[in-house]
Amino acid sequence: MSDIHYETDTPVLYETRGAIAWLTLNRPGFANSQNSQMTYAIDECLQRAVNDDAVKVIVLRGAGKHFSGGHDIGTPGRDVAKSWPDRRTLWYDHVNKPGAELAYVREQEVYLGMCRRWRELPKPTIAMVHGACIAGGLMLAWVCDLIVAADDAYFADPVVRMGIPGVEYFAHPYELNPRIAKEFLFTGERMGAERAFQMGMVNRVVPRAELESSTTALAERIAEMPRLGLALTKQAINHVEDLQGKRAAMDAVFHMHHFAHAQGQLTVGNNLGGMDAKSMAAANKAGETEPKGEG
Ligand code: ZN
Repeated sequence: MSDIHYETDTPVLYETRGAIAWLTLNRPGFANSQNSQMTYAIDECLQRAVNDDAVKVIVLRGAGKHFSGGHDIGTPGRDVAKSWPDRRTLWYDHVNKPGAELAYVREQEVYLGMCRRWRELPKPTIAMVHGACIAGGLMLAWVCDLIVAADDAYFADPVVRMGIPGVEYFAHPYELNPRIAKEFLFTGERMGAERAFQMGMVNRVVPRAELESSTTALAERIAEMPRLGLALTKQAINHVEDLQGKRAAMDAVFHMHHFAHAQGQLTVGNNLGGMDAKSMAAANKAGETEPKGEG
């Protein structure tokens, strides 16, 4: 679409240092909100890191003030109406599909499908989180094997305001105790890094100034392990999570999520339940969460 204004041609920066690949979300002017351009770039960079035999560990982080404010629901780079010829999860193009089909097909591809691919990468991944990690931002952190958070990091999923039961990659009751997950979703409030650590959602909380050095030290330590040992260990634990119902639960809730999108479309003509970036920002400000979360 020629009318889309992209903030940058490189929505994800890629570099390697020793055995570590660093992926940096690079839309700092929009709190690293994720449009399709960024999502496909993340996928490409992760594939590149997997294909590079010198890379043992992958770190995902955000440029600027925040890790990620969520999916793009209102920047000039929002590109939901754009086709991507090189799709990744074998779904057909969502563009110009009628009714609820458009959002369903799009989200099978770019949200649920790609997040599952990323979770199953054969190399260890670490999310290095600072500032906001909201809604779609949670999905990126949660698909990583480990999360290292700065003491200024906070997490929230405020999409219940849109009538939607959480973001597409529904890992909430696996990341958090179910009762805490309900509180997290029912209120949409921020959960600070320290509380997230207490709940077992993040591995380490470190001072912001030490975030990169601590993450590097952890990644280097992991990189000393044999590649296949790491890959098999990751598969083992992911397999056990799936035996505990994670994958099946996510499939079921994805359909509730799309019932909610359809209900919004039918009742207020907007699959975000009548909310947009501006109204979400205002509502979240009252609840002290940052804007840009999406359903
Ligand atoms: Zn959705």
